[in-house]
Amino acid sequence: LFVAFEGGDGAGKSTQSGLLGAWLERQGYAVRHTREPGGTELGRQIRELLLHGEDGSVSPRAEALLFAADRAHHVASLVRPALEQGEVVLTDRYLDSSVAYQGAARALGHEEVRELSLWAVEGLVPDLTVLLDVPAELGRERRGEVHDRLEREADDFHDRVRRGFLDLAAREPGRYLVVDATRPAEEIAATVAARVGELLGA
Ligand code: C5P
Repeated sequence: LFVAFEGGDGAGKSTQSGLLGAWLERQGYAVRHTREPGGTELGRQIRELLLHGEDGSVSPRAEALLFAADRAHHVASLVRPALEQGEVVLTDRYLDSSVAYQGAARALGHEEVRELSLWAVEGLVPDLTVLLDVPAELGRERRGEVHDRLEREADDFHDRVRRGFLDLAAREPGRYLVVDATRPAEEIAATVAARVGELLGA
């Protein structure tokens, strides 16, 4: 089973994937918890390039290709092998992040970025995508101090990201669980666990 956690910065993706991972392990499942960008050694180098430049140091198309390169290597070297071994793979961010950030917010085009990402991963889509929906202002408050180039984007950028994610979920409702990320973490975790339990036939 392959589950992706998506949502804007400060939505609580790592908290929720951590809680789901712990729940699955208590049920006896082998869990692989990973992230993008930076889930592999090559990915950590790409993450450095993406996050630690000056404003304008990575052009939008180069940015889209670097995220796609990170994802291609992540899927080929970590995600597919783990799935083949029967592990449950949980990833913080996957291809929807590219469609929302580069496709919608940077206006490179929904379809173009989606096609690029699908090519990069040879068509591997998650069984479930959990979208943690958070308003831009709350995301900013939760992030606190801003550390990198991409976090510096203004609220209207994060609004476009949010709408990009919601648009994706509306197109394919069966594959998404959209949760209001302003709810308490334990409540969200219970909702997510219930849905994943159904998928596992538990
Ligand atoms: O989720 P994480 O904090 O690891 O993401 C690193 C940064 O990359 C965040 O600031 C996020 O907004 C940005 N990002 C992006 N485009 C993506 C994925 C992440 O701009 N496709």
